[in-house]
Amino acid sequence: MIDVIIIGNGPAGISAALYARRGGLRTLVIGRDNGSLAKADKIENYFGFAQPVSGEELINDGIVSAKRLGVDVITDEVIGMQYNGNIIIKTQQGQYEALSAIIATGITRNAPKIKGLAQFEGKGVSYCAVCDGFFYRGKDVCVIGEGSYAAHEAAELLPIVNTVTIATNGADISAYVPDGVKVITEKITEVKGAGLVESIEFENGETLNVSGIFIAVGAAGSTDLAKKVGAQIDGNKIIVDDNMATNVPGLYAAGDCTAGMLQISKAVYDGAKAGTEVIKYVRKQKATK
Ligand SMILES: Cc1cc2nc3c(=O)[nH]c(=O)nc-3n(C[C@H](O)[C@H](O)[C@H](O)COP(=O)(O)OP(=O)(O)OC[C@H]3O[C@@H](n4cnc5c(N)ncnc54)[C@H](O)[C@@H]3O)c2cc1C
Repeated sequence: MIDVIIIGNGPAGISAALYARRGGLRTLVIGRDNGSLAKADKIENYFGFAQPVSGEELINDGIVSAKRLGVDVITDEVIGMQYNGNIIIKTQQGQYEALSAIIATGITRNAPKIKGLAQFEGKGVSYCAVCDGFFYRGKDVCVIGEGSYAAHEAAELLPIVNTVTIATNGADISAYVPDGVKVITEKITEVKGAGLVESIEFENGETLNVSGIFIAVGAAGSTDLAKKVGAQIDGNKIIVDDNMATNVPGLYAAGDCTAGMLQISKAVYDGAKAGTEVIKYVRKQKATK
């Protein structure tokens, strides 16, 4: 059994991994790519560099240092999460179970800008199939997205609802689509309804009548993952206490996905704190099992 799975190999995730591993935990880091830092050309406000350092260099060196200590770091995308006392993480390529987990997936920026969509949040627009799918049993629903995460959400909905359509909003579909799911690649112009969602309009003039829309654009963001296991969120932030613990036992969050400065130094502190606290949690769990 893995002691802790850290989702995200940015400054928060890697910092957490360094502490957890040095505390003796079997630590797995799952990261999709280099996160925000891949876009940061020059960093001049982080301790320890005489000359500006690129985000790529900082992140790659961080990963090397974690691996040197014995952290397993893999490239994969987390598409699902469950809680049964332990934490089960589903990725594009496999499934893992751990005593604890830390979400360090950076900031969620994946809500598509589609006319009408925002006004139906909570009135037919959802960000979590496993949380809200039940409300649409027997109904027609649409998943907006194009990748593995969208396909995973569609697969979650299939046994519950009447029909599932994936609408890619103009993008190419980049994942295996479950049997029975229709795909529309046309651009979406508007979401319509009177009070609740009723239909989606496409650029070619066609209309898809649906009662529910599930947003799964790109990869699962931090709040998408948090919601799947019942962790509390506030807007696009995961709610944590001073120990970076969520309300779900054994689940922590760190970095840009929690409130505060969107800066490397803050992400590194959060990770250090979460990594330290997770050591105590795992030791307690092992002592009582
Ligand atoms: C252009 C730009 C310039 C910046 N310049 C500075 C600067 O000069 N100084 C500074 O202090 N800060 C700067 N920042 C902010 C800084 O990059 C962030 O505050 C910091 O990277 C946050 O760290 P994090 O670990 O919380 O998230 P991130 O660095 O965003 O890391 C998130 C990680 O989660 C992974 N991930 C996300 N979803 C999934 C999933 N579903 N499955 C698996 N993995 C997933 C990503 O692949 C990534 O590894 C800049 C940001 C940008 C965008």
